[in-house]
Amino acid sequence: MEGFRQLPQVDRLIDALGTNEGAGEPHALKAAAARRVIDEARVAIGEGAPAASMEQLAASATRLLEAGRRRRLVPVVNATGVLLHTNLGRAPMGRRQLDAVEAIATGYSNLEFDLAEGRRGSRYDHARELLTTLTGAEAALVVNNNAAAVLLVLATVARGREVVISRGELIEIGGEFRIPAILQESGATLREVGTTNRTHLRDYREAIGESTAAVMKVHPSNYQVVGFTKSVTGRELAELAHAAPGGGIPLIHDIGSGLLRHGIAGRQLPWLAEEPTVEASLADGADVVTFSGDKLLGGPQAGLIVGRAEIIAAMGHSPLLRTYRVDKTTLAALEATLLAYLEGREEELPLWSMALLAPSEIETRAAAVRSLLLSQPSQGGDVDAKVELVDGFSTTGGGSAPTSRIPTVLLEIAPRTRAVAAVRADLIGGDPPVVARLEEDRLVLDLRTVAPEQDATVAEALRRVLATDTAG
Ligand SMILES: *Cc1c(COP(=O)(O)O)cnc(C)c1O
Repeated sequence: MEGFRQLPQVDRLIDALGTNEGAGEPHALKAAAARRVIDEARVAIGEGAPAASMEQLAASATRLLEAGRRRRLVPVVNATGVLLHTNLGRAPMGRRQLDAVEAIATGYSNLEFDLAEGRRGSRYDHARELLTTLTGAEAALVVNNNAAAVLLVLATVARGREVVISRGELIEIGGEFRIPAILQESGATLREVGTTNRTHLRDYREAIGESTAAVMKVHPSNYQVVGFTKSVTGRELAELAHAAPGGGIPLIHDIGSGLLRHGIAGRQLPWLAEEPTVEASLADGADVVTFSGDKLLGGPQAGLIVGRAEIIAAMGHSPLLRTYRVDKTTLAALEATLLAYLEGREEELPLWSMALLAPSEIETRAAAVRSLLLSQPSQGGDVDAKVELVDGFSTTGGGSAPTSRIPTVLLEIAPRTRAVAAVRADLIGGDPPVVARLEEDRLVLDLRTVAPEQDATVAEALRRVLATDTAG
């Protein structure tokens, strides 16, 4: 067929990309995109379509390259107001955290070198003292994430034996983290007690027997059971576990979110009042407490384990520890994070600087974005939407404080002619992608989670997707 002969060579199509946006991509990726586009054109011709022009092929290849670029890690503007959005990377890092990472990552370090003795050391020594000082624990261990921390604890303490847990705490965090599955993987047997909404101390007491290795309490981070409910406090559980026949068994507490204290920068945050702290859990008698580094601690992804020295030491000998090994950049960022708390500078951590913003500050910024959006003489026509400031709430998200409602001021966008979901998708399709929250027939943007220097970018993105001549 005539059409086949009109298709360009791969190299010629790559040359034609030279002036397009995808031009900056590596040659191998351009070649793959060009080949795929030509293959598709060949199939189309075989089905009777006319040969695509060079411009059409180049445009298709450019779209493929751009889609490929966006599958790699790219920065995203989080306008959802969810502080710890797991899909958007949880806690952002601040300047000091990044400086610490840079200092360690760009050269050599004492990662596993004991400078006092001049010989081999352990990477697990680094954050230990900061963690024990901050939490009051005897010992501490840092692994790759909290899921690994929980699995390591259970495998060390309870393999081949039973762990007693309330049915109300058999939670799923998302991303395949389900407590029953983790328990099974650890080699321990789950002994469920109570019901979904009510578990009593006697339920635990009746379940503890010869084969019980531990009692576990899990913070239901991302949901709440309301109404006719009953759960047992950590203190009661610790007393029960420690009084178990044969010298007692440990209480393991997975608190998930890793809040260190309720007072942040000297202020009590009411929306955190229900959230357990690591220190309080230990003070109530938990023998091992596990939590994430990138939730309410505001640090890098990590799993932090604090508690009794002999249990932590036993984990140090587990072959699993090697597979959950924490990276030097993580340790550097974690130490910088912990130092921020120890030095009373926690409000410097982006999590807390954003969380502490007053609604009035957010309102001022939202008003500025609104007028930037509405008042500029448009290149693309009028803005096809009603744009208002309304009171609303930010949330912590990311498996912490499920009912947290942090007062904020939202930028509310009600498109006049376009579907609100299409506007949201266009915002995500932009560069940089802007992620907004969908609330029924409106789109809301919460600048609490947007860096102030990106406010203008948000206004531009909104203008691009809402200007009348791009509508439809
Ligand atoms: C988030 C969470 C986990 C998982 O922690 P990762 O750091 O994401 O691995 C486990 N348990 C609880 C209670 C959590 O909230």
